[in-house]
Amino acid sequence: MLTCTGCSLLCEDIEAIIEDNKIKGTKNACRRGAARIKGCANRLVPSIDQKPSDVESSIKKAAELLRNAKSPMIFGFDNSSCEAQVQGIQFAQKIHAVIDDTSSFCQGLLMEIILQKKLKTCSLDDIRNKADVLVYWGSDAQDSHPRHLSRFSYFPRGESRQRGYEEDRLAIAIDVRESNTAKICKKHFYRINPKGDREFILALMEALSGKAPVNDAKNMLELAGVLKKAQFGAIFVGIGLMYSIKNDFEILTKLANMLPKFSIMPMVGHYNMRGLNEALFKETGYVNRVKFDEKGVQDNKYALIEALKNKSIDALVVVGSDPVLSLPRSVLSHLSSIPVICIDPCQTFTSKISSVNIPCAATGVESAGSAVRMDGKVITLKKIIENNYRSDEDVIKQLMGAI
Ligand code: SF4
Repeated sequence: MLTCTGCSLLCEDIEAIIEDNKIKGTKNACRRGAARIKGCANRLVPSIDQKPSDVESSIKKAAELLRNAKSPMIFGFDNSSCEAQVQGIQFAQKIHAVIDDTSSFCQGLLMEIILQKKLKTCSLDDIRNKADVLVYWGSDAQDSHPRHLSRFSYFPRGESRQRGYEEDRLAIAIDVRESNTAKICKKHFYRINPKGDREFILALMEALSGKAPVNDAKNMLELAGVLKKAQFGAIFVGIGLMYSIKNDFEILTKLANMLPKFSIMPMVGHYNMRGLNEALFKETGYVNRVKFDEKGVQDNKYALIEALKNKSIDALVVVGSDPVLSLPRSVLSHLSSIPVICIDPCQTFTSKISSVNIPCAATGVESAGSAVRMDGKVITLKKIIENNYRSDEDVIKQLMGAI
């Protein structure tokens, strides 16, 4: 058995078919997970200035570049082990760097509020055992977390939900389009206008307090009635909702307060984004965007996007992430004028523009470690293939030692 790192569900029931120390196939994994476990399409090779090198020389060169940097940033770790994340935070403290990750432009702030215990949450096991009403809001779990409905929410039988989805559970989708998840929810799909989530929340709050909203009163009162009757509900918050309400957590908290039987769960994408958020929160009280100086934490206003726009960093280390793929081209131009160091098992868009590339093992297949599932449960990742790649944790340790 191995754990899949294809998404933050970290499915632990995967069987791998191994021949000649290579993975030939998998059982139980979804299509996305099977592809992830099979490994990179193109393996990252050590390089300096895009010319082939060896790992030792690449680490030495990276250390030299970072020694000369006055305001470096370390970015990523969402696809790295918890052990590498702890090393990464120590590394940022040592070189007085900013540390940030993808959560700073998706669900980081929601996660921070959850870790501050300002919003009620629960475990995926609680949901499987007890939940009767499931709300997918701005989230197409069938696409982003393909086994979410089958393992934890809608389809499985649970301790208090023995009759399963046919009689015991109800799934609701609130989205701007009829996603694959919305198709499963059928008549409980509520289509909203793009960026219309705030308006929808206000109307729903009116309906929950017994008033008829001006728009779509029949549907809103019907939805409010279903939510009020729930014994154990869960709202799965996708980035669609986060982007639409522009991180206005006050309105989300007001709605949550009107639904005391509901827990909130961010649909975290990358397999260990929550791990980095939790580790950084424990160390600093913030989940991302943290700048360290000689006194410790300076503050948390240093997101990668702003740093690139303001040209406020002079070196970037990217670990287990591919910002060049996800960031708008307009903010990426600064990267061509600073050294970029990429640590990853696979070639990525970022590795193609990096000054130094350092390959590492794929955690959960080629090296062991742990990761934090989307609901906060720590999951063990095993090594099932022997090869010479160093773990992400070891590469960071070695780079830190070389500075
Ligand atoms: S749902 Fe996610 S963790 Fe589970 S097998 Fe699919 S990609 Fe892997």
